[in-house]
Amino acid sequence: MVFLNCFTRNAKFIIDRDRVVVNFKRRFFYKKMIFDTHTHYDDDAFANDLDEVLQKARENGVGRITNIASDLPSIDKCLELAEKYEQIYCAHGVHPTECGEMTDEDLSAIREKLAHRKVVAVGEIGLDYYWDTPDRDIQRHWFKKQLQLAMEVQKPIVVHSREAAEETFRILEENYDGDGVIHCYSYSAEMAKEYVKRGYFLGVGGVVTYKNARKLVETVEAVPLTSIVLETDCPYLSPDPYRGKRNSSANLPLVVKKIAALKDVSEETVIRQTEENAERLYHL
Ligand SMILES: [Zn+2]
Repeated sequence: MVFLNCFTRNAKFIIDRDRVVVNFKRRFFYKKMIFDTHTHYDDDAFANDLDEVLQKARENGVGRITNIASDLPSIDKCLELAEKYEQIYCAHGVHPTECGEMTDEDLSAIREKLAHRKVVAVGEIGLDYYWDTPDRDIQRHWFKKQLQLAMEVQKPIVVHSREAAEETFRILEENYDGDGVIHCYSYSAEMAKEYVKRGYFLGVGGVVTYKNARKLVETVEAVPLTSIVLETDCPYLSPDPYRGKRNSSANLPLVVKKIAALKDVSEETVIRQTEENAERLYHL
């Protein structure tokens, strides 16, 4: 893949084999491509063939990707990826299940690294009462601290919330007045509408294609397409018929297809709108 970046006073041109991007005084003219808003390409699952995986994603219409950190070592790996691959952005934060040993020094280290031009969000942060470790008090503490950090640096948040619906909502209400995404949204359609009202995006991925995805299907039907962003959470959560196998951005057309059917719009519309949503989410 060849990218050429040319900066002039008012315009930015990104030229590659598949499309021309012109951003002239904040106006965009370019071919729409899928934006994968949540990946873990720093995972060992991609240690041997990441170039091929990203090439395949490109061939399947995936333009840009945000790779999400989950702990301190992964923050450094995310940055390496973002520096190596033009199409990859990243988010820095500590996942609730990884915050047991976290310190204030770690938070300061994250703060410094957030200044990098390719770091577009704080995440993933939140509460995980499914694995329920470390202690809930510790999870709450670092969730709030990282919310504060996001407000300080004025970056959106990527929220991980599992089996902690009420408390996640309450902590956000009481401690945060910025924007962000509820990644891998898994709660009720009613709660989804409350998040949408407050300007949050909902991350939808492979789960929507599963036979038992009733709740997520209801959510996708209930919220406007303008509030949905696409994500894989790869290497996890492959859509049907690849459930259980290693996931990658190349599988996102299957999610696009499902959302298009649920919303009764074209696949192109889903790609165009969710790409715009991702740009708004990550302030691009
Ligand atoms: Zn994730």
